[in-house]
Amino acid sequence: MTDQAIGRIIDGVALSGELRADVARRTAALVLRQVRPGLAVILVGDDPASRVYVRNKIKACEEAGLYSVFEKYDESLPEADLLARIADLNQDPSIHGILVQMPLPRHIDPHKVIETIATAKDVDGYSTLSAGELMTGAPGFNPCTPYGCMKLIASTGIALRGKHAIVIGRSNTVGKPMALMLLQQNATVTICHSATPDLKRHTLQADVVVAAVGRRNVLTADMVKPGAVVIDVGMNRNDDGKLCGDVDFAGVQQVAGFITPVPGGVGPMTITMLLVNTLEAAERTAGSP
Ligand code: NAP
Repeated sequence: MTDQAIGRIIDGVALSGELRADVARRTAALVLRQVRPGLAVILVGDDPASRVYVRNKIKACEEAGLYSVFEKYDESLPEADLLARIADLNQDPSIHGILVQMPLPRHIDPHKVIETIATAKDVDGYSTLSAGELMTGAPGFNPCTPYGCMKLIASTGIALRGKHAIVIGRSNTVGKPMALMLLQQNATVTICHSATPDLKRHTLQADVVVAAVGRRNVLTADMVKPGAVVIDVGMNRNDDGKLCGDVDFAGVQQVAGFITPVPGGVGPMTITMLLVNTLEAAERTAGSP
């Protein structure tokens, strides 16, 4: 860690912009080879938050020149019909990535749905095969949110090799894959969770802290080693109803070397990494130029 760097903001909007411009460039190059990366987005039901997420994903695809298909189904869609539709998309050569927006209605088993998506098109990286690929270091698709966190950390210029990284949270979609990606980059990794006593004792040792809990002020200034890199995945509402993260931003910024804001940190990166994964799925299909 450098002694000079204190409170530098890692701008997820700016980094997203750079990565999306690169996606657009590589997409244009693929299109010249008659392959347009295609993403199918499926929404079942009418969850308002899901509708916003899906709309943002489609818009991002269009802006980067990717082809996208949006399929919206009624809440009552039988599970078998959804699985059959995914099986069709698995065979569709114009589709390189398939994303089923979660949560699904209660009568549909999300595990069955995720496992039905062909691994080569699992651009969310949620299937057990994709998780196994990440665990064993095989080339596959990394889950978008932790993948975006890795890009944010890399943008600081700080090498992870030999650093102590702490992940707070152990969900299958964020915390666990995050820990594996940090490990892959030769960090020494500690995973903390709701049964971890004295969280502060751990976080004070960390050169990098990733907070992925879903509770405000899980990480405060007194818990952070001076100069550490702090990545805030959390999405919560403060007393005024405004979006905020898991980290007490104002306090921690005074101690951390680098910190992501909420909004404007991890959030924009998640969709960006979905575009990157879809593009890479298409590039793999197309083979070397
Ligand atoms: P999750 O499945 O609810 O997992 C939360 C994790 O936090 C669990 O592992 C839980 O431990 C742990 N935890 C709860 N209270 C804790 C405490 N007091 N101290 C330490 N650990 C504690 O949530 P998630 O899906 O991983 O998401 C986490 C947050 O990230 C949420 O706010 C979510 O909205 C946000 N998120 C943001 C993006 C984005 O694009 N910005 C994407 C995904 C998620 P146990 O396992 O022991 O219960």
